[in-house]
Amino acid sequence: MLGQSENEERSDRECQGAAPNQPPCNLAATVHCNTCDMWFCDAHAEDEEWHRCMKAAR
Ligand SMILES: [Zn+2]
Ligand SMILES: [Zn+2]
Repeated sequence: MLGQSENEERSDRECQGAAPNQPPCNLAATVHCNTCDMWFCDAHAEDEEWHRCMKAAR
């Protein structure tokens, strides 16, 4: 039996980061930043090229 209603809130968000010279990231975004109010995938949330807050926080 498949529980259909179970996964309705499954992330349809996509990583909102962007870096120069890089194509957009299409991965599912799992990390929300309270500073810039954007969503990032795991990898890009900590990537200062994609996520400016990482640089500003230093
Ligand atoms: Zn941020
Ligand atoms: Zn990403």
